[in-house]
Amino acid sequence: MSWPLLKADNIHKYFGSNHVLRGVDLEVRKGQVQCVIGPSGSGKSTLLRCLNFLERPDQGYVYLDGEPIGYAWSGNELREMRPAGLARQRERMGMVFQSFNLFAHLSALDNVKLAPRLVNGISEGVARQQAADLLAAVGLQGKEDHKPAQLSGGQQQRVAIARALAMKPEVMLFDEPTSALDPELVGDVLDVMRGLADDGMTMVIVTHEMSFAADVADQVVFMDEGNVVEAGTPEDIFSRSSHPRTVSFLSRVL
Ligand code: ADP
Ligand code: MG
Repeated sequence: MSWPLLKADNIHKYFGSNHVLRGVDLEVRKGQVQCVIGPSGSGKSTLLRCLNFLERPDQGYVYLDGEPIGYAWSGNELREMRPAGLARQRERMGMVFQSFNLFAHLSALDNVKLAPRLVNGISEGVARQQAADLLAAVGLQGKEDHKPAQLSGGQQQRVAIARALAMKPEVMLFDEPTSALDPELVGDVLDVMRGLADDGMTMVIVTHEMSFAADVADQVVFMDEGNVVEAGTPEDIFSRSSHPRTVSFLSRVL
């Protein structure tokens, strides 16, 4: 049995006295698509942010390919990592947020090429070509010079996906990527994500799009009140679950 590419082991997180993650385990194998569902406030975003150490777990570790995120071995002791080391680990995980978080003053192309150019030190010409190819791959050929404000929400989110892909991540993390979009713009973004899944990208997707989750997920993870209540195939969760909390949640959203 191979290592999981991404593994969260007994993650706890508190905000003050609010115990937001209560011992969460997650294992994502290479090429797997996992969709995380659950009510608002159940800890989905916090879990996703713990996976790339945007939040520091109070207990438990996240491993990428067996390597603890945010920590390095010093002798036989794990020490919190310095920012440069953490930045190198984070590059291996692309993150896409509900709110796009594009640089407003930069064109679509410049948003996509910024990190590879700064971090990888590749030439301007190569960076431009890669960025243009990525924009074309998410259906935005011809929009290279548009600023975010000149693009629809769905187009902005596709720029954000292209930007995350530009660092050639091993895993893509999505936090409700379509929740801020007008309904008619959701489909194009989901189609791009479906394409990534078909190409074998490893993905963890927090989503309220249940039919999308049923369609693309290898595993659906249902969270409630800081716990993973159950995880299984889409059929296990959407059709066969008898867990009262899962059944109650699904009856409200389906
Ligand atoms: P979800 O994404 O499932 O809606 P979140 O992970 O955003 O849930 O939030 C889980 C709980 O943690 C909520 O009670 C929320 O208010 C709290 N929370 C999230 N982020 C913070 C923060 N930065 N500071 C304080 N409380 C937070
Ligand atoms: Mg959230």
